[in-house]
Amino acid sequence: MFKWNVGMKMGAGFTVALFFVLLVGAISFRSVDSLAETDNLRAHSYDVLDSLQDVISVMQDAETGQRGYLITGNEEYLEPFNSAEMRIGENLERLSKLTRDRSIEGGHLKQLERLRQLIYDPDGKFAELKETIDVRKHEGFDAALDIVQSGRGKIVMDEIRECVRIMTVEENQLFERRSLMSQSSVRHGELVIVIVVILAFVSMAVIGFCITRNIAVPLKVLSLRAERVAAGDFSESVTVQHRDDEVGVLAKSFDGMVVSLESSMAEREKSLFQAEHANSAKSEFLANMSHEIRTPMNGILGMLKLLQHTELTVSQNDYVSKVQHASMSLLNIINDILDFSKIEAGKMSIECDSFVFDDVMRDLSVILSSNLGEKNIEVLFRVDMAMPTTLMGDSLRIRQVLLNLAGNAIKFTERGEVVVGTRVVRQDEDVWDVEFFVTDTGRGIAPDQLDSIFDDFSQAESSTSRRFGGSGLGLAICKQLVELMGGTLQVQSELGQGSRFFFTLQLKVGAPVAHIAPLPAMRVLIVDDNALVREVLQNMAHSNGWECDCVSSGEEAIACMTQANAPSYGVVLMDWVMPGMDGIETARRVREFAETQRKALIVIMVTAHGREMLTENTEEDLEILDGYLVKPITFSMLLESINEARSAHAKGKARECAVKGTQRLKGLNLLLIEDNVLNQEVATGLLQVNGAEVTVAGGGVEGKLRALAAVVPFDAILMDMQMPDIDGLEATRQIRKHSHMLSVPIIAMTANAMPADRDACLAVGMVDHISKPIDLDQLVKVILLHTRGDQLNPNAPSVELETNGASAVLDVEQAIRSIGGDRDLFIKLLQIFRSDSLVQLQRLRDSLPQGEVREATLALHTLNGQAGTMGAFALQEVASRFEVQLRGVAVPLLEETRVGWVEAVEAALDDALTQFELLFPVESSEGV
Ligand code: ADP
Repeated sequence: MFKWNVGMKMGAGFTVALFFVLLVGAISFRSVDSLAETDNLRAHSYDVLDSLQDVISVMQDAETGQRGYLITGNEEYLEPFNSAEMRIGENLERLSKLTRDRSIEGGHLKQLERLRQLIYDPDGKFAELKETIDVRKHEGFDAALDIVQSGRGKIVMDEIRECVRIMTVEENQLFERRSLMSQSSVRHGELVIVIVVILAFVSMAVIGFCITRNIAVPLKVLSLRAERVAAGDFSESVTVQHRDDEVGVLAKSFDGMVVSLESSMAEREKSLFQAEHANSAKSEFLANMSHEIRTPMNGILGMLKLLQHTELTVSQNDYVSKVQHASMSLLNIINDILDFSKIEAGKMSIECDSFVFDDVMRDLSVILSSNLGEKNIEVLFRVDMAMPTTLMGDSLRIRQVLLNLAGNAIKFTERGEVVVGTRVVRQDEDVWDVEFFVTDTGRGIAPDQLDSIFDDFSQAESSTSRRFGGSGLGLAICKQLVELMGGTLQVQSELGQGSRFFFTLQLKVGAPVAHIAPLPAMRVLIVDDNALVREVLQNMAHSNGWECDCVSSGEEAIACMTQANAPSYGVVLMDWVMPGMDGIETARRVREFAETQRKALIVIMVTAHGREMLTENTEEDLEILDGYLVKPITFSMLLESINEARSAHAKGKARECAVKGTQRLKGLNLLLIEDNVLNQEVATGLLQVNGAEVTVAGGGVEGKLRALAAVVPFDAILMDMQMPDIDGLEATRQIRKHSHMLSVPIIAMTANAMPADRDACLAVGMVDHISKPIDLDQLVKVILLHTRGDQLNPNAPSVELETNGASAVLDVEQAIRSIGGDRDLFIKLLQIFRSDSLVQLQRLRDSLPQGEVREATLALHTLNGQAGTMGAFALQEVASRFEVQLRGVAVPLLEETRVGWVEAVEAALDDALTQFELLFPVESSEGV
C-alpha cells in the first residue's frame, strides 16, 4: 500500500495550493484578454463603418463631378469624378480586407460583392456615369440629360446606399453581439475566480488542519514529553510512535533516546551511590583509624608527661619535649582528619544553643597565649563592643574555626600583630549579622595560591609542611564548618603584607545572662609600646565610660603621672616588655609615687609573655602588681581583674582568689532525687557549700516518699529524669497528686535538654530544668528564682589549668568552673568517677552485647552525665550519641554494632582516664 510521508503530504498540500493559484491567474488572464479583444473588435468595427461611409461619400463625389461636367461641359469639373474613380477601388479593397474575417457570418461578403457589382458592372454606377459623360461629350447636353432623366443612375445609387446601410446594420449587430459575448465571458471569469478562491481557501484550510494534526500536534506531544524527561519523569512513552512517517521516526528515536537516557541515569545513580558509599566507607575508615590512632597517641603523650616528672638529663629532657611536640602535631593532624571525615560523611552536626560569646574568647585567649611560644608578636582581641553577651549558635565550632585561623596567623607571622575580632554588620530585632575576622601582619599568600587555599590537603607552598608542619586540612575544615553554620569563609591577602580571613554568621541573640557589674567612673593610664594594643585597650576603657590616657613607654608613664596637675589615675594597664624601662620597673616607680601622694592605685600588667614574666621576675617584683593578664584579653577579663584587685585592696590584701561559695542558698531545705552517686556528690557538695540543707533520695520511689513524708515541705525538689525504678516524670506526677505538694517547686535535672524533654517536664508540673553537667551558677540561679523569686549575678572566679593539648578529650577548666571553681571538690569527684565510670562500663559490657537495651541505656546515660560533670567531653559525646541512638532503635542492633559501641565507649573512657591521670596523678589527687 502506498504510504504518505510528511514530505509527500506537505508537497501535495503545496501542489494543490499552487494549482489553485495558477487557476486564478489563468482565469484572470483570460478575462483581461477577452476585454482587450472586445476593445480591438470595437475599433475594427469603427473602421468598417468608416469605410462604408467613405464608399457613399466617394460615390457622391463621382456624381458631383459628373453633374458639374454635364452642366458646364468643362472637363475641369470632372476632377471629383476622376478622383472618386481612383479612390473607390482602394475603398473597396480596404473594406474587403476589414471584413475578410466576417466569412463565418457570410453577410458582409455577399453585400460587398453586390456593392462591387453595383459600382463596376456594365450596368453599374460608374458605367452609367461614364456613359452620360461620353454622351455629353459627343452628343450634347440634352442627350446626356435624357440618360440622367431615365433614372437608371439614381436607382443604382439607391441600391448602393441600401447595400451600405445593410452592411452598416450588420456591422453594428456584429459589434453588439461580440460585446455581449465578451461581457458574459468576463462575468463568467469573475464567477470562476470567486469559486476558485473559495476552493483555494477551503483546500488551504484543510491542508493547514492536516499539517497541524499530522506534524504540529505530535511535535507538541514530543516537546511536552521532552520537558517531563528533563524534569526526570521517564514514566510514559510517546503515543505517535506507531506512525511510519518522519514524525513517527522522530518519536521512535526520541523514545529510544529516553530509554537509553533512563538507563544511563540509573547507571549514573548506581555509580553515584557506589561512589558515595565508597566515600562514606573511606570517611568511616578514616574516622575509625584516627580514633584508633588517637588512643595510643594519648597514651604516648601521657607517658611523656610522666617521663617529664622523672629525673632526666638536659638532653633527655630536650628529646622528650621534642617527642612531645611531634606527638602533639600528630594528634592535631589526626583530629583534623577525624573532623574532615566527619564532615565528608555528613555526620558533622551544628548545634544551636545559647552561649556566652565572652566564654569563647576567653577559651581562645588561654590557648592562643600558650600557642605563642617564643614569638615576639602581639595577639589581640578586637571585639565589637556592641556585641550581645549571649548568642544562639554552635560555640564549639565557632571557637574551633577562630582557633584554627588564629593558630595559622600566629604560625605564619614573624613580627607585628595577630588580631582576632568581631564586627556587627547588621542588626535586626533578634538576628545579628556578625563578622568574625582574624588578621595578621605575616608573610601573606601569593595571589595564585588564594583560590586553592581552601582546598583539602592544600598548602600555599610545598615547603610549608616541611617548615611548619600541618596537613593542609585546617582551612578546608574551617570553610566547611563555616558553611554548615550558614556563612562563607573568605580571605584577602597580600604577599609580605599579611592576611585577613573573615566570615559573617547570622546569629540570634540568646537569653540574657547577668553582666559583670560595671565599675565606677575612673581614669586609666595605658602604657604599651604597641599602638594597636593601646588602641584596643583604650576602646575597652572608653566603652566602660572611663577616661583614658595612653603612653608608649615606662619613662613617659612616669612623666605623665608625676607632672604638675597630673590627673589622678585609678588604674594603670602596663605592658611588660618595652624598649627602655620595663613594665615591672615602671610599676614600682609609679606605685612609689602614688604612695607618696597617698593615692590608691591599681597596677595590672597586660603582657604577651605570662610564663616568662612569672619565671623571670622575683616574687618581690610581682608583689608590686595587683594582677596580671596574659594577652589576648577580653573586656570581661579586664573588668574581672580590676574588680578582684579593688576588692583585694578593700580587704587590705595584695591579691586574693575566692573560690568557695557564698552561702547564697542559706536557709533553704532541698530534696535531691538522684540515683547516680557521682551526681549526688556533685549536687550535694555544691548545694551545701552554698548553705543549703540537702536530703538525698537514691531513686524515684524513695524521692516521692521523702517528699510526701516531710513535715515541713521542702523549699524545692531537684529531680533526676532517668532512674531505675520510676523516672522523674512519673515521680513528679505522683508527688503532684497530693494537694499539699502542688506549690513545691520541682526542678528537673536532665542531660538531654531537648525542647521536647523540657516540654514533657513542664507538662507533668515541673517548674524549670537544669541541664547536666550541673553548672553551679545556673543551679543557684534557678533555685533562687523559684524559691525567692531572685536573680543572681554569677561571678565565679575561674581556675586556669594547663591542659596540655588534652582539650579534644577533656575540658577540665570548664568543668571546674561549672562547680564554682572548687578544685578540691573536683578532685573528690574525680575519685568517684574513676571507680564509678568503670562500674558503668562493666554494666554496659554486660548488657549491650546481650541486647538488654534498658540496662545499656541507663549505663550510657549515667556515663554521659558523669563525663559531662567531669569535663570529659569526648566520652560524653560518645555516650550521649549511643544513648540517643539506642533510644531511637526500633529493631535489634547487629551484634558487631553492639560490640563496636562497647569498644568505642571503652576507648573514650580510657582516653579520659589517661588524660585525668596526666593532670591529676592518683597519688597527688589522693593526697589532697
Ligand atoms: P595547615 O593545617 O597545614 O596549616 P591549613 O589548611 O590551615 O593547613 O592552611 C593551608 C595553607 O594556607 C598553609 O599551609 C599556609 O600555606 C596557608 N595559610 C593559611 N593561613 C595563613 C596565614 N594566616 N598566612 C599565610 N599563609 C597562610
